[in-house]
Amino acid sequence: MNTSGYGRAAKWLGLALILSSALAVALYLISKSVTWQAFGEIVHRVDTREKVVALTFDDGPKPGATEELLRLLDAQGVKASFFLVGKSLERNPQQAKMIVEAGHQLGNHSYSHSRMVFFDYRRVAEELEKTEALIRQTGYRGEILFRPPYGKKLFNLPRYLADNRITTVTWDIAPETFDGPMPRPEEISSAILEQVRPGSIILLHPMDGYRETVQQALPVVIGNLRQRGFRFVTLSELLAEAQ
Ligand SMILES: [Zn+2]
Repeated sequence: MNTSGYGRAAKWLGLALILSSALAVALYLISKSVTWQAFGEIVHRVDTREKVVALTFDDGPKPGATEELLRLLDAQGVKASFFLVGKSLERNPQQAKMIVEAGHQLGNHSYSHSRMVFFDYRRVAEELEKTEALIRQTGYRGEILFRPPYGKKLFNLPRYLADNRITTVTWDIAPETFDGPMPRPEEISSAILEQVRPGSIILLHPMDGYRETVQQALPVVIGNLRQRGFRFVTLSELLAEAQ
C-alpha cells in the first residue's frame, strides 16, 4: 500500500469508529429513556386537567418497611402502586398480601431486578411470567403494569411487553438521587412539590436505603398536595384519566 492508500484506510477506520460510537451512544440513550421505547406503550405521566397524581413505590416487599409504609398510607387515606420484585415477593409473600389487602395496586418489576438491556426474549418472558404468577398468588386481581428495573430496556423487553399488551410505566418525578449524598427528607418533599402537575407519576424507594427519608417526606407531600386540591390515585385510575 502506498502512503495515500494508508491515508484512505485510516480515514475509513476513523469514520467506522465515529459511527460505532455514535450508535453506542444512541442505544444507551434509548435504553434509559423514560418517555420512549421501541415497541408497546410507555407512560411517564398522563395528560389531564384533573388534579390527580400517583405515588409509586419500587422494590421489595421487605418486612418492616412494608408494614411501616402501609400504616402511613392508611393513616393518610392514600392508595398507591407498588412495583414488586419477584424474588423479594417469593421470600416475603405475607407482606405482599398485606399490600393487596390494604387496597393498593401491584405491578411487576421483574424477578431478579437486573438491567434487562441484553436479555434474550425467553429470559425476558421468564422474568416477567414468574413474577406475574407470584403477584397472582397474593390474591391480587387488578391490572398488572410493568416497570423495568433502573428504567432500562432495549429491544427484547419492549417486544415481549408489546406482544403481551403490557403497559410500561415510568415516572416524571424521581426526587431521589443515586449518585452523591443522600438527600434530606425536606429536599425530597420540595423537589416533588416543585415539579408536580396534574397527571404526575412520582417514583420513590421506601423499601431500602430511602426508608426513613421517604417515611418523613411523605406526610409533608400528601398534606401539601391535598391543600392544593390534588387527589392520590392508583396507576390504573390515573391511566383512566388520560385525555
Ligand atoms: Zn427497582
